[in-house]
Amino acid sequence: MARPLIAHIDLEALRHNYRLACSLAPASGAVAVLKADGYGHGAVACARALEGTAPAFAVACIEEAVTLREAGISLPIVLLEGIFEAGELEQVETLGLWMAVHSDWQVEALLAHRLARPIPVWLKVDSGMHRLGFSPERAEAVWRRLAAAPTHACDLHLMSHFATADRVDTGYFAGQMARLEVLAERLGAPLCLANSPATLARAEAHGAWNRPGVMLYGSDPLEHANEASRRLAPVMTLRSAIIAVRELPAGEPVGYGGRWITPRPSRIGVVACGYGDGYDRHAVDGTPVLVAGRRTAIAGKVSMDMLTVDITDIPDADIGSEVVLWGRAANGEVLSVDEVARCCDTISYTLLTGVLPRVPRRYH
Ligand code: PLP
Repeated sequence: MARPLIAHIDLEALRHNYRLACSLAPASGAVAVLKADGYGHGAVACARALEGTAPAFAVACIEEAVTLREAGISLPIVLLEGIFEAGELEQVETLGLWMAVHSDWQVEALLAHRLARPIPVWLKVDSGMHRLGFSPERAEAVWRRLAAAPTHACDLHLMSHFATADRVDTGYFAGQMARLEVLAERLGAPLCLANSPATLARAEAHGAWNRPGVMLYGSDPLEHANEASRRLAPVMTLRSAIIAVRELPAGEPVGYGGRWITPRPSRIGVVACGYGDGYDRHAVDGTPVLVAGRRTAIAGKVSMDMLTVDITDIPDADIGSEVVLWGRAANGEVLSVDEVARCCDTISYTLLTGVLPRVPRRYH
């Protein structure tokens, strides 16, 4: 038998989540964010699955756009961080990409470059994230400069990113929004603001374009789920199997460090999945897994190629039984990647993008 660990990718669930993003913001276009290899799901497969539905894609950098173009994806692709050096402009043009512009040197490079046709530009404004972008005060002058250069920049949009759109407390988000509304009004600029949490929960941020990412993959980024986020469907199921069973008396340590000790006579299932596959070693005791579709928990530290689970209360579980680390079990039971992430003191983004290449992806 081959090693049983596989990341199953449900492309119909991806399309369902994309359609949900569109239905929440019917007046906006939704750019499907496919960076970091489609949040670990395979950017090319996800792009192909969404090609007939999404009008445009977004990636972080030109290498990711090249991968999509080489796979025959012809829809517009936005570079969310723009170019990293002036020499990339040639490829931006030949590959027909759109790009964010967040720094003076990018503006200078764009205006100095000889172009056969102008490049669609999203001007990035730092409305409060304090990462990339022009301050709202500077953005106005940059916008006017680009608008006066129609041979170089076209389809100008104002773009910004929210730091706290996922939170119940809306104070900081409201401040970002207010700055953007003033600027957009002054410039008569179309907006591209909403990430997944804002798409799900902040209708006032829906603009000409939205940029949903993690929600497309079925993860709920909101601090408190809402009616819309409860309709998301998991796209990745990280599925493995039990490869060995240990019967142990009470009081026996299990795994590295011997920190977890059987509290009673226990059956321990050894599962083919470890941190060498991307499963987070910070998973605490009690981190849930589904064995044969029933919830149980990790017992002992995650190792490189294996982890151990308590199957004492699942007597029919044995070698070969299905183990779902997150996603949907064969009996329909779902374990959300968000719940697993909380047990690892992280977010779903790191778990999904962290599934390593040795785990085969299988598309359905
Ligand atoms: N827009 C930008 C500029 C981003 O950096 C990201 C992701 O970090 C997204 C949109 C998508 O965010 P999310 O995955 O939270 O929807």
